[in-house]
Amino acid sequence: MVSACLLGIHCRYDGGHSACSDLMELIPSVSLIPFCPEQLGGLSTPRSPANMTGGDGYDILAAKAKVINADGHDVTQAFVKGAEEANAIALVLKASIAIMKDRSPSCGINTPVYEKPVGYGVGVTAALFNSRGIKLFEVTKGGHFSCRKFQTFLEQFNDFWK
Ligand code: SF4
Repeated sequence: MVSACLLGIHCRYDGGHSACSDLMELIPSVSLIPFCPEQLGGLSTPRSPANMTGGDGYDILAAKAKVINADGHDVTQAFVKGAEEANAIALVLKASIAIMKDRSPSCGINTPVYEKPVGYGVGVTAALFNSRGIKLFEVTKGGHFSCRKFQTFLEQFNDFWK
């Protein structure tokens, strides 16, 4: 599973993408399944940017925090639905690894959290994936991804299942 914007799909809040050239190198050798939880949750593209408020993805899944967009609307339900739909795709495809876009309130692993407690935390879909045992990788700041590290991990992973 891969955050779709990293593969050049125009699903970002601003209608753009975050294509990662490092990741594109994997296309010939690895089956990559693009997904965008915010679209799966029913949000439009483009859409108002949103932030986790009062907690991270785990708190949001536990109904202890919210996702609020720049217009001040509570879009928590759409983010939770998107996470559940993305997880449903992972279950159908028996996907056990996900490569996630950084700083996203859905996909990020170290995403800013606003209001109390401020800091960084996992996005809503990343939290659900992690709680279901899906191994997460994140494209780092600047759009870089260590294909070599990932391929080493895949080789070990494949050996494990042989
Ligand atoms: S929700 Fe994830 S896949 Fe969709 S645009 Fe944001 S970071 Fe990319």
